[in-house]
Amino acid sequence: MQATTQLIHSIPVDPLTGAVSVPIYQTSTFVQDAPGVNKGYDYARSGNPTRATLESLIAQLEGGATGLAFASGLAAIDAVAKLLKTGDEIVAVDDIYGGAYRLFTQVYEQFGIKINFVDTSDPAKVLDAITPKTKLIWLETPTNPTLKISDIEAIAKIAKASNAWLCVDNTFATPALQQPLLLGADIVVHSATKYLGGHSDLIAGLVVTKDPELGARIKFYQNATGNILGPFDSWLVIRGIETLHLRIRQHSESALAIAKYLEQHPAVDKVYYPGLASHPNHATAKKQSKGFGGIVSFSLKQDHLDAATALVTSTKLFKLAESLGGIKSLVSHPASMTHKSIPAEKRQAAGVSDSLIRLSLGLEDVQDLISDLDQAFNTSAAKLEKSNTHQVAAC
Ligand SMILES: *Cc1c(COP(=O)(O)O)cnc(C)c1O
Repeated sequence: MQATTQLIHSIPVDPLTGAVSVPIYQTSTFVQDAPGVNKGYDYARSGNPTRATLESLIAQLEGGATGLAFASGLAAIDAVAKLLKTGDEIVAVDDIYGGAYRLFTQVYEQFGIKINFVDTSDPAKVLDAITPKTKLIWLETPTNPTLKISDIEAIAKIAKASNAWLCVDNTFATPALQQPLLLGADIVVHSATKYLGGHSDLIAGLVVTKDPELGARIKFYQNATGNILGPFDSWLVIRGIETLHLRIRQHSESALAIAKYLEQHPAVDKVYYPGLASHPNHATAKKQSKGFGGIVSFSLKQDHLDAATALVTSTKLFKLAESLGGIKSLVSHPASMTHKSIPAEKRQAAGVSDSLIRLSLGLEDVQDLISDLDQAFNTSAAKLEKSNTHQVAAC
C-alpha cells in the first residue's frame, strides 16, 4: 500500500459512534471505574485521546516508536534538550532556526551545557567538533533559510560511533519527503505550525523517537513540565496531516518552477533550492529525500537592506510574514525578521546576507506567483531609483 493510502486509513473511525472525523475530547479528567482503574486515561495533561491519535499518527509517518505532541515546535525542542545534564555538549547545525539558537545559547548554556555550531553539510566537520562530552547532534536539513543539506545517514553513523543521539528537525522536509529515523537518526522534532498543520492556523510541536524507552523519558519530561498540545489544536494538526502528501507535492512543484524563474532573473544573485542542479548538496538531497520542498531563498545583486526591503514590500500575492508552510505564499527577510536574534557576523557567516529573501510557496497557481514576483521586481526597482534621485537632489 502507498504511504498516502496508508495514512488516510490509519486515522481511525470513532469506535463509539462511527464518526469519520476524529472526536475532539475537550475534557480535563476521566471517570475511573475504581481507584486507579480507568479506560487508559486519567488526567488530560498525562494523556488525551485526540492528542494520542495525533501522536500515533506522527510516529507512524516518521517510522518511529513514540510520538508526542507539544504546545509549539520550540516546546518540543526544549523537551529533547532536557535529556542533557550540566557538562554535556551539543553539536548543532550553524544555520539553525533562530528560536532554537536562542533556546540553546540563552537558556541551556546557563545550565552548563555547551553548544558547538558547525557546518553540518560537511560530515567531517561534525566529526571534528565531537568530544567525549557530546551527547546530542542537532541537524536541520534543509536548513532555514539557506536550504543547506546535511547527509543524515553519514552523520547518524558518526553519532552512533560517538555514543550521541542524533536529532533531526524535520520541519522543512516533513515525513512526506524525508524520514530521518529510517536513515539512522534517533529523534525527530517538528514545528507542526508549518507544513503538518499546513493552514497557518495553529502553533504546535511534535517529537518522535525510534526507541520507546527514549520516548518514555521525553514523555516523562512532558508530563512533569505540563508541556502539551490541547485537543482542538491536536485535531487541527490531524486534519492538516490528512492532506500533507498532496500539499507537499504542489508546494514542491511550484518551488522548483520559481527557483528556475529566479535563477535567470537579472536582479538575482544566488538562488538557494536543493532541487536545482546548481545547489552544492543537490546529490545528497536527491539521495535522502523524495522531493525538495516548498521553500526557495535568493539574494540580490544589490546586496543591501534597502533593496531587499523594497522587494518584500512590493509583492501582492506573497504576503510579508514570518513562518512558512501554509496555503498562502509568504515572503520574508530573515536578516530583519526570523534571524534578528542571531548576531550579524554569525548570521552572515552562515550565509544569511542582508539581501537574502525567503519565499514559502503556497498553493496559488504558479503562473500568478511568477507574475507577482515580476511586478514586484519592477516596482521595487522604480522605488529604489526614486529614492536615489532624492538623495542626489539633497546633495
Ligand atoms: C518554526 C520552526 C521552529 C519553531 O517552531 P514553533 O512552532 O514556532 O515553536 C523550529 N524549527 C524550525 C525549522 C522552524 O521552522
